[in-house]
Amino acid sequence: MDAAIEPQPAPERRAADLPQADATLVRTAVHLETTSRVGQQLTTLVDPEDLLGQVVVMIQGGFGYRFVGAWRVTEKGDCAVLSAAAGQAGGEWNAPGLRLPLDSGRAVTEVCRTGNEHESAGSTEDRQPCAELVLPLRLGDKVMGALELRSDRGEVFSRDERLVLQMLAGQIAIAIRNAQLYQREQTRRHLAESLEEIGRELSSSLDLEELPGRILERLATVVPYERCSVMLQDGPALRVASQRGFPDEGRAKDIRIEILPDDIYLQLVDTRRPLWLDDVTQVPGWRLVEWLAVNRSWLGAPLIVKDRVIGMISVTRREAGAFTADDALLASAFASQAAIALENARLYGELNHAYATLEQLDKTKSRFIEIAGHELRTPLTVIKGYTQVLQTLPVFHGDEQARTLLDGTLSGVSRLYEIVNSMLDVSRIDSRTLQVHFEPIWIGAVVMQVCANFAAAMRERNLTLITWGLEDLPRVEADGDLLLKLFSHLLVNAIKYTPDEGSITVTGAVVDDGAVEIVVIDTGIGIDAAHQELIFERFYQTGEVSVHSSGKTKFKGGGPGLGLAIARGITQAHGGRIWVESPGCDEASCPGSRFHVRLPLRRTG
Ligand code: ADP
Repeated sequence: MDAAIEPQPAPERRAADLPQADATLVRTAVHLETTSRVGQQLTTLVDPEDLLGQVVVMIQGGFGYRFVGAWRVTEKGDCAVLSAAAGQAGGEWNAPGLRLPLDSGRAVTEVCRTGNEHESAGSTEDRQPCAELVLPLRLGDKVMGALELRSDRGEVFSRDERLVLQMLAGQIAIAIRNAQLYQREQTRRHLAESLEEIGRELSSSLDLEELPGRILERLATVVPYERCSVMLQDGPALRVASQRGFPDEGRAKDIRIEILPDDIYLQLVDTRRPLWLDDVTQVPGWRLVEWLAVNRSWLGAPLIVKDRVIGMISVTRREAGAFTADDALLASAFASQAAIALENARLYGELNHAYATLEQLDKTKSRFIEIAGHELRTPLTVIKGYTQVLQTLPVFHGDEQARTLLDGTLSGVSRLYEIVNSMLDVSRIDSRTLQVHFEPIWIGAVVMQVCANFAAAMRERNLTLITWGLEDLPRVEADGDLLLKLFSHLLVNAIKYTPDEGSITVTGAVVDDGAVEIVVIDTGIGIDAAHQELIFERFYQTGEVSVHSSGKTKFKGGGPGLGLAIARGITQAHGGRIWVESPGCDEASCPGSRFHVRLPLRRTG
């Protein structure tokens, strides 16, 4: 058997010198040996094209045929393509890539179409003897291609030879299938990886201007194309948000395609699935852009956001029939990622816009407070001054009615003064121009002073005041006037939001991180969790403004909604922190609120 492993001389030539029986034996031995070598080779190859290329060479050499060709049926099943060839078949037959429609009536295409073997014997055009055997490469009912074998002999292939070749054809079919499966698996894995990577990359971009361009750039790595565009629906038309491969960028930007009733885009909208056309020139009514070269293959994938189609990715190739179901699937998977990214970028854009608008509104609000505060203060000073002068005029002496009227005017003016001052405080806090004069102060004394200031109001409302731990508080570096304001606002609120007969407790303690903490506790209506942060914003009020009673320390008395904003501004200017705790708001059960103010003992920063 050693001789058979050597480079393969044609078995006919070796067999010619031997008696008939021996010659047949040698030929069969060589055929079997070739078959076994081919079989081994088949298991090692993973690329179907490579595999066929090597197999035809081995068979042609091993069996000593004039020509061996391996044909494959195209994915669409309409043509047979010569995938690999070895030897001399004469003329065009030698050229791999040759494509024959399955209905062309040639021996190979008939075998591919019917799955039946074909055999013929005779002579070539130049009267050389020849025989042809075409075997189907099939798996079950599916014909994947054909193995074409031509010998120089004028008689048909022997039974043994055919058996061996049939066996080989069976092995080749299985090997092709395996290689295809392997390759598909590889491709799938590669695509899954790149889709994941693309998704990650796209979702990291929040720029709506640049994103469609990146989408197309990345799409090219999974579905090759000549031209491609992201088209977004804009009312009754589709406009090009981005494109690649268009010769004139400026003109491409202006493309607007009106959506007609029978538009293919509407099919995408209806089916929510990708669609592809083999040849748009065969589609009646297909609208071509006159300045663009005709690309015959078209593939469209819908961009779906929350079950709504917002546009599509449209991909084209020059030649007809270029896209496959796999491409459509890929484009569709890709479009899903792209749609999410586009939606994220859109939402981000809207959020930014809303934020900018809010910022602008906030500035306008600050400006309004500042202007109103300043403009009101001057006439108020005048009114206050004149009213005080009026009180001293002899003409009003002994006139009780006039006195009451003037007292009322003055108390109204004082209240207005307080509001205007609060507005000015807030505008200073907003513009960070609040002046803080730090000096060591007895904070307990300041808080007790505030409590004393409101003693009358509390008596009037039958509220009990309890203080605890204030006398023992140390000195802190702070601005006494500002702290007076801060705790006044807290105490006024505690009085305002606690019904008559309730109690207010004010405690003070040094806490372990070098700070003092004052807590103002009331047995009032309490505050819902949803409002506990927001009440520190300017003008924020939880109840309905119109139902507030108007007195400053009356139950649910009115206020401009500035007290807590000022309290927070002052606390923060001291490097401290203010917050509220309350189980919720309930006017019947009055769960109460606890306002905590924590201030550092020493000036920070
Ligand atoms: P206002 O001038 O309305 O009192 P504030 O800024 O002082 O403005 O308070 C804002 C809102 O916070 C109040 O309208 C009220 O709804 C709520 N609030 C403040 N303090 C208390 C409290 N002790 N108990 C219940 N609600 C309070």
